[in-house]
Amino acid sequence: MPEPHDASECVIALDVGGTGMKGAVLDRELRPLLTLRRPTPREAGPDAVVDATVATLRTLARQAADRKLTVRQVGVVVPGIVDEDLARAVYSANLGWRDLPLADLLEQRTGLPVTLGHDVRSGGYAEALLGAARGARDVLFVAVGTGISAAVISDGRPLRAGGYAGELGHLVVEPGGSPCGCGSRGCLETVASATAVAAAFTARSGQAVEGADQVAALLTKGDPYAHAIWQRAAEALGTALATAATLLGTELIVLGGGLAEAGELLLAPVRTALAEQLTFQRRPSVVRAALGDEAGCLGAGLHAWRAVSEAARFEPAGAS
Ligand SMILES: [Zn+2]
Repeated sequence: MPEPHDASECVIALDVGGTGMKGAVLDRELRPLLTLRRPTPREAGPDAVVDATVATLRTLARQAADRKLTVRQVGVVVPGIVDEDLARAVYSANLGWRDLPLADLLEQRTGLPVTLGHDVRSGGYAEALLGAARGARDVLFVAVGTGISAAVISDGRPLRAGGYAGELGHLVVEPGGSPCGCGSRGCLETVASATAVAAAFTARSGQAVEGADQVAALLTKGDPYAHAIWQRAAEALGTALATAATLLGTELIVLGGGLAEAGELLLAPVRTALAEQLTFQRRPSVVRAALGDEAGCLGAGLHAWRAVSEAARFEPAGAS
């Protein structure tokens, strides 16, 4: 039975990324009532990132209180290996966390109930419910940004595997290739992440660029270095996606993250590279994410509201 909705009720959603935090206070329909963006103080170490997370949640809670809103739950999503059941940030190369009971820590320091999730899995969940993957049952949502990670939805359900599912960025696409942050070599991330594309362009052309979007811009002007590097990245993505699609029977691939901002410039060569490697398999459509960089934060909000509903189910009848 649906619960009666109280318009003053809200959740706090926070996506803690490697470079920035995206926070919001969301109503039941996931509409943002307040939003807040702050840099992540990654260089200051893992404790500083926890402190900054606490400070951001407190600011949002205070702003919600000023608006006479009641915060029912907090949803926080983070990168790396996240065990949602144990509410622990098991491993994050970017943020330096190792087996951190993050939800407990945040609850103690904010006094609010906290649900922990994985940024990309949560983004995929949001795309499945509200975005580009609505109605699809076998989906791969791939975030191509600083790193590469995927959310797998299989037979309509998110695949978690203790937090270890979806590490698409660490499929080896060039054996013996460049060293990866994970300790291996030739991972997809070393070829096709936005960071890798920008670095490869600078190394090949001798021309410094700020990011992969500049490589995309040069590509449209016919720059031969940009073309070669972009093509290599698209082919590597095609190879990794063909592997994943073969294993999972994927029907829909949703590309998100910074590199997917290039739109068809990325999607078209990825589709071609993928098609070349598939024979009998299901042929997944490749589309661009619909929710942009807000997918993770909306996913955090979905987790938070789900926790509210689950808690309500266990409350004795008549309890307020
Ligand atoms: Zn790797």
